[in-house]
Amino acid sequence: MVEYGTIIDASGALIDEVLVVPMLAPRSYTREDVIEIQCHGGGICSRRVLHLCLEAGARLAQPGEFTLRAFLNGRLDLSQAENVAQLVSAKTVSAAETALAGLQGGLSLLVQSLRAECIEMLADIDARVDFDDELPDLDTISLIQRIQKAQQQVEQALTTERRGKLLQVGIQVAIVGRPNVGKSSLLNAWSQTNKAIVTSVAGTTRDVIEAGIVVGGFPVKLLDTAGIRDTSDEVESIGVERSIVAARGADVIVMVVNAKDGWTEEDTHIFDRVLKIREMSSRVAQSMLVINKIDQASASTIAGSKFANPFDKVVATCATQRVGFEDLEAAFLELVGTGNVIVGGKMWAVNERQAEQLLRASKALERLQVSIKQNLPMDFWAVDIKEAAVAFGEVSGDDVSEEVLSRIFSKFCIGK
Ligand code: GDP
Ligand code: ZN
Repeated sequence: MVEYGTIIDASGALIDEVLVVPMLAPRSYTREDVIEIQCHGGGICSRRVLHLCLEAGARLAQPGEFTLRAFLNGRLDLSQAENVAQLVSAKTVSAAETALAGLQGGLSLLVQSLRAECIEMLADIDARVDFDDELPDLDTISLIQRIQKAQQQVEQALTTERRGKLLQVGIQVAIVGRPNVGKSSLLNAWSQTNKAIVTSVAGTTRDVIEAGIVVGGFPVKLLDTAGIRDTSDEVESIGVERSIVAARGADVIVMVVNAKDGWTEEDTHIFDRVLKIREMSSRVAQSMLVINKIDQASASTIAGSKFANPFDKVVATCATQRVGFEDLEAAFLELVGTGNVIVGGKMWAVNERQAEQLLRASKALERLQVSIKQNLPMDFWAVDIKEAAVAFGEVSGDDVSEEVLSRIFSKFCIGK
C-alpha cells in the first residue's frame, strides 16, 4: 500500500507533498514496522521533512543499523548481512552478483549445515562422556569420514577468498619494462578497448600513469610505471622508486619486452628486480611476459627461450595495432579467476573475516581427527569439535561477540 499525503510543520505550514510506504512487521527488511516517506527530489524537501521527523522524536540510524536489526531479528544471518555491505560497495557487475549470491544464502546454508553437523557430533561424543557404559561404542570410522567431508567443504569455501577480494578491492597490475618497449602503448591499447579513464598522476612521463578498466568483471587498475633501471638521474630515480612501489603492491606484474630487440641484458636486469619485488611483496603476485612489437619481429624467439619460462603466462602483442589483446585478457583471467565455487548455480565468495574463521574450523577439525586416531580421551575430541562449531557460529553470527558485531556494522554506510 502506498499512501499519498502532505507533510506539515507544527504551525500547519505545508512542507512537501509525499508518498508514504508502510512496511509492517514482519514483512520488512528489519522485520519491524518501517515507514518510508518519499519526498520530492533535490535535497531541500527531504532535508526539511527529515528535520521535522527528528523534531518529532525520531533519531538518525547508525551506520548499518537497519541491517544490524535485520540480523538481530533473524531476517539475515551474519554472512548475509556482510554481503549487503559488499553489494552496496560493489564496483562491477560481477562483484555485485557475487555479493548477491552471498546475500541469497549460498555461504549461510553451507556454514549452517556444517555447524549443525558439528553440534550433532558433539552431542554423540558428550553422551558417551557422560553415560559411558549405557551407549554402544562410537563408530569412529564413520565419524572420521564425516569430519573429512566437513573439512573438504571448508577448504572449498576457502578457495573463494582470493576471487572475492579481487572482485571487491580490484586487481592492481603493474606494467614494467625498459624504456621504449611499448608499456604506455600497451596501457593505452588495453584501456581503449575497455573505455578506461586514464589519469596521469603528476605532470611528467616518469610518473605512474593509472587506467581503471574492467576485465571479466574484475575492476582492474593498470599502472604504467617508469622503466625500472638503476639510474643516477634524480627525477628518473623518483620514477623508478614509484615503479618499484607500484610493482610491490601489484597482484599481477606484466613485464613488457620487445620482439625486435630480443631479450636484452637490461631485460634480465629488470627481471631480477621484478623477482626481488615479488619476494618482498606480501601479496601473491603473478607474472606475465608480454612480447610486444610482433609486427616487427616474431615473438617465438623469446617465447621459446629460457627467459620466458619463469613467467606464469606469455603473450605476444602489437600494441600500436591492438593485436593480441584477446589473448592477453584470456591469459590475465586465467591468472586471477581461480577458485570459483558454484552453489545452486550462483558464485559466492568468502571475505577475510569469514575465511579466518573457516581456517580456524579447518584446523580444529584436523586436530580432532588426530585425537580420534590416537585414541585420546573423548574430552579432547569435544574441545576441538566445540572450537569448530564456535568458528562456524562466528561466520553465521550464532556465536558472535558484541565487539565483532559493532566492528562489522560500523563499516556500513548510513541508511543501510
Ligand atoms: P614505453 O617507453 O615502454 O612506454 O614505450 P611507448 O609505449 O612509449 O612506445 C615506444 C615507441 O614504440 C613508440 O613510438 C610507440 O609508438 C612504439 N610502439 C609501441 N608498441 C609498438 C608495436 O607493437 N609495434 C611498433 N611497431 N611500434 C610500437
Ligand atoms: Zn611509457
